[in-house]
Amino acid sequence: MAILDRLPTTDRLQRMGLSVDGSCCLCADGQESRDHIFSACPYSKLVWQAMLDHCGFHRASLEWEAELAWLSANLRGKKMRVIVCKIFWCSFVYHIWEERNYRRFRDKKRDCNTLIHSIKETVNIRIQSIGHL
Ligand SMILES: [Zn+2]
Repeated sequence: MAILDRLPTTDRLQRMGLSVDGSCCLCADGQESRDHIFSACPYSKLVWQAMLDHCGFHRASLEWEAELAWLSANLRGKKMRVIVCKIFWCSFVYHIWEERNYRRFRDKKRDCNTLIHSIKETVNIRIQSIGHL
């Protein structure tokens, strides 16, 4: 859904004619769009940068399309590190969207460090389940 830009971000809802607040609820300083909430948003940048560092990729996070291209080019094969990084990417996207929905609909908020911790916990559980296969 995120890759295909089919999530109901407020920029898409506005294009469909709905009257919604289009500001990003993660940083409160940008128009919500897929590209913003998953790559340009300062909140998401901090979270993804922590994931990159944790996976041993010491580079800056990229714009959405460039990040997808980098992931596609570099995360190939079945090495454990590649599998773990793919799980981190999926967990990152899931948690950012979940956080967006918590803030927009439930008035709940987690800071970056709490979200990073939650993503790492999720990934650890997934890795342990792979080890049991
Ligand atoms: Zn933002």
